[in-house]
Amino acid sequence: MAAHKVICWDCGAEVEDPFVNTCPRCGGLLTVKMELEKVKEMKPQDLRSTPIGVWRYAPFMPVDPAHKVSIQEGGTPLYPTKALGAEIGVENTFVKFEGLNPTGSFKDRGMTMGVSHAKELGAQVVGCASTGNTSAALAAYAAKAGMKCAVFLPSGKVAMGKLAQALFFGAKVLSIDGNFDDALALARKMADERKLYLLNSINPYRPEGQKSVLFEIMDQLNYEVPDRIILPVGNAANIWAVYKALTELEEVGWIDKMPMLTGIQAEGAAPVARAFAAEAKDFVPEQNPETVATAIRIGNPVSGRKALKAIYSTGGYCTTVNDDEIIKAQQLLGRREGVCVEPASAASVAGLKKLREMGIADKDERVVCICTGNGLKDPDTIINNCAPPIKCGNSVADVERILSE
Ligand SMILES: *Cc1c(COP(=O)(O)O)cnc(C)c1O
Ligand SMILES: [Zn+2]
Repeated sequence: MAAHKVICWDCGAEVEDPFVNTCPRCGGLLTVKMELEKVKEMKPQDLRSTPIGVWRYAPFMPVDPAHKVSIQEGGTPLYPTKALGAEIGVENTFVKFEGLNPTGSFKDRGMTMGVSHAKELGAQVVGCASTGNTSAALAAYAAKAGMKCAVFLPSGKVAMGKLAQALFFGAKVLSIDGNFDDALALARKMADERKLYLLNSINPYRPEGQKSVLFEIMDQLNYEVPDRIILPVGNAANIWAVYKALTELEEVGWIDKMPMLTGIQAEGAAPVARAFAAEAKDFVPEQNPETVATAIRIGNPVSGRKALKAIYSTGGYCTTVNDDEIIKAQQLLGRREGVCVEPASAASVAGLKKLREMGIADKDERVVCICTGNGLKDPDTIINNCAPPIKCGNSVADVERILSE
């Protein structure tokens, strides 16, 4: 663990109360400032005695690994995906498959850090509002830590696998009459009244764990920085975490250039992409976000301004894909690469295809698409977009006829 402090991202004030989620002085977003002097004396190889995963990178993290609440998160594969790449027109493509985390999404990386910190603080109750994966991850880590967990879900719009997980891990699952933003407002109110420790993406410790996805990608590419990293953007904490990890690697001298960070949003939930198109530093919230990619169905992204900073300062890009493009990319991943991701995750691949068509992404680029969650989270969407099982008679000839079609 490195020394660190929590500061306001907007005004720089140091924040000492661990239960506040916004700057007491200006209302701004919080972030963790790591003290990395000691890491400057280290090399990447020095970390390799610890298995790949979030806690390999403890010198970049604000929680002592001795206090960790872990289910062996991270250490996910980085697949070379040439067949997919050839189809898209950018052959040198990799997929970082975050669906192989313990609860099936990258949210586990943030939750191991967030819940470990909650434990350090002596919190008894943790909570979050969620489109699904955050609650699934929090419920699992709260179970592991022996804490009570409340999850606030927008009514009706959560993928089945995610809801099943939150219930299964024993969380109090509260179905709130409203959308995600309403659920978050209620969870924040509870946190302000000190009734729970809030682990939404507004929490500054979660991105610290999420930085590990970038550290792993660099480890897996032997610290050869790719040209572009693409990820879906919802509340925008993940793209911010990846950017923060890059700036820290640059600070300690382990990398000397930045990949173009590229955010992809769904057409029906695209405040960050619209701000990017207008070259704005801030975004205008959207009232009724809608997309098949429920994990990024966010109208008022908590870290939207941080995402824009990450994109602008790496010379990256941000655009949208529609639901049809998302589903096609999801199927392409399955049929070319044998990888089953949930719709939000396929947005990164759909985005690369679109950027190639627009001429933004070059055919010779080396690109990493982060595929954030597992397709089994949302089996309904998969079934709805596949042909049904084939009726077949009970003979070899019947089967042969069908296979030859
Ligand atoms: C949470 C989530 C996202 C969006 O990440 P943000 O940090 O909110 O931008 C994308 N895909 C999946 C599968 C997720 O669970
Ligand atoms: Zn401030």
